[in-house]
Formats: sequence, C-alpha cells, structure tokens
Amino acid sequence: MILDGKALADQIKEDIRIKIAPMEKKPGLAVILAGYDPASMIYVRSKERACAKAGIYSEIHRFPENVSEQALIKKIMALNDDEKIHGILVQLPLPKGIDEKNLLSYIDIRKDVDGFLPENAGNLFLGNKAIVSCTPKGIIRLIKSTGIDIKGKKAVVVGRSNIVGKPVSILLLNEHATVTICHSRTQNLSEETQQADILIAAVGKAHLITKDMVKRGTIVIDVGINRIDGKLCGDVDFDDVKDIAAFITPVPGGVGPMTIAMLLENTVECCENITKSKHNIT
Ligand code: NDP
Repeated sequence: MILDGKALADQIKEDIRIKIAPMEKKPGLAVILAGYDPASMIYVRSKERACAKAGIYSEIHRFPENVSEQALIKKIMALNDDEKIHGILVQLPLPKGIDEKNLLSYIDIRKDVDGFLPENAGNLFLGNKAIVSCTPKGIIRLIKSTGIDIKGKKAVVVGRSNIVGKPVSILLLNEHATVTICHSRTQNLSEETQQADILIAAVGKAHLITKDMVKRGTIVIDVGINRIDGKLCGDVDFDDVKDIAAFITPVPGGVGPMTIAMLLENTVECCENITKSKHNIT
C-alpha cells in the first residue's frame, strides 16, 4: 500500500491553520537562503507557500552566492531579536567557504526550528523535550499513520547523517524499536535490510534498495531525493519493491511534504515555547 505523505501533510497543515486562526500574533518563520542552488530555491518556495496556506507569517532572506559569513551572522542576530520571528531556518547546503556549524551556532536556541543545534540534538538523545528536526519527525508520523505499533519491531536505518539517519534512529529507539544503523562501510547491507520490519532509506543513491533486499510485509520509508534523466526518484526501487512492502512512501509525495508540515508544526511549537517563557518572566 502506498503511504501518501502529501495527504497526511495536507491534513496536518489544515489542523495547524485551524489551531492558529484565533491567535492574534501569528507564529513567524524566517528562512535564510544563500546562493542559487536550484533544489534549495524550490524547497524555500514550497516552505513559503505552505506557511501562507496555514496562516503562518514568513519571510525569506535571499543572499548572493558570494555572501560573507559575517553578513549571514548579522542577519541571524537581527532575527533572534525580532519578535515577529519564532523560527529561523538556514537553508542547506550553504555556499562554499561558509562554516555551517559556526553559522548555525548563532541561532537563538528557542528559535532552532530545525532542531539542528547541539542542545536540541542532545535533548533528543537524552529523551528530553526537544525541537525535533523535521524530516525524522515526519518519518515517525508517517510510520504511526499506518496504525502499526513501532514497539518491538526491527527497524533498519540506511544512512547515519546528523539530519536524518542518526536522529530518526534515536526516535525509533525512543519508540522501543530494535534499531540497526547502516552506512557506507556496512559489510553486507542486504543481510541487514532483509531483517527489517521497518526500513528507512536515507542515502541519496537512486534505486539502492531493491526487491531482494526487502522482507515481505515491511514498512518502507524512502527519504532519498535523486534525479534520473531529470525525473525525481528515491533510494528505493519503487516499482520493484511496492508489491512486497506492506507500506511504501513514493518519491515525490512521501517524506518531502511531511518535512514541510513538520517545519510548520515546529514553528508553532517554538512560538508557544517563547510565549510561555515570556509569561513566566513577567
Ligand atoms: P548524507 O549524504 O549526509 O548521508 C548519506 C548517508 O548514506 C551517509 O551516512 C552514508 O554513509 C550513507 N551511504 C552512502 N552510500 C551508502 C551505501 N552504498 N550503502 C549504505 N549507506 C550509504 O545525506 P542526508 O542524510 O542529508 O540525505 C540522504 C538523502 O535524503 C538525500 O537524497 C537527500 O536529498 C534526502 N533528504 C530528503 C529530505 C526530505 O525532506 N525528503 C530531507 C533531507 C534529506 P557514511 O556516513 O559512511 O558516509
């Protein structure tokens, strides 16, 4: 069965719209886009459109490819002090020469809408309340939407990046799955993936996961975004795997829309946290 991320994301965005409609001061998201990476430009436009649809205030700050790190830091500092803004997102990848870690470290932790800062990542690791990064959070929602209990399942995550593989593995562990994390140095990938009740592919290699690597009845979540002859595809050979998977996400229309829906949810959460902390001070 196809797991329709777009339909689920639309439902979540509608719920957000209803929730924030009565709010006098709307949650606000600022996106910083440096350079002209075509995929980033498309993602930023989608985020802007999704905010408008849900009633979230948004502003996009565009900078040329040769922007200095100092100019970006200055913008982040201004956004940290801006009361209209509750979430700050720096669209990655950044142009060459900009130190991503250093730049992100200037974001006010309360406005870390992507959950990328060490404090949020650490809290996730410790099982504390945290802003959870959007793609891993969206993946868990997609799995839960199947109605299948994650507890006790064997989950295999292919990919160990800080933005997808590692955090989704921790979230699955927090849901009591037994988790295996695979990467480029894994000895026999197929042997690992065949064990999975839940298989997450977050690699960035078109059609890496084929039918012979998947057990019948598995939930397959395809995070990868690749292009073959200009056409989008995932890390999973969709046509090959769809008949044996219990559930499978398409690319496009699976994880991507959920990432955006979770960004909106996180913006609302940051807004609520900031508002609450202000009330506690006054
Ligand atoms: P990274 O390049 O940061 O990480 C890729 C991971 O895949 C690494 O851990 C790497 O291992 C592993 N890997 C590479 N080759 C193999 C292989 N042959 N077998 C097993 N593992 C392998 O990518 P991201 O995590 O940032 O993104 C992964 C994919 O997901 C990309 O296509 C990206 O575009 C997409 N994406 C989609 C999002 C969405 O919203 N839909 C959001 C974010 C990403 P090692 O660590 O050893 O190098």
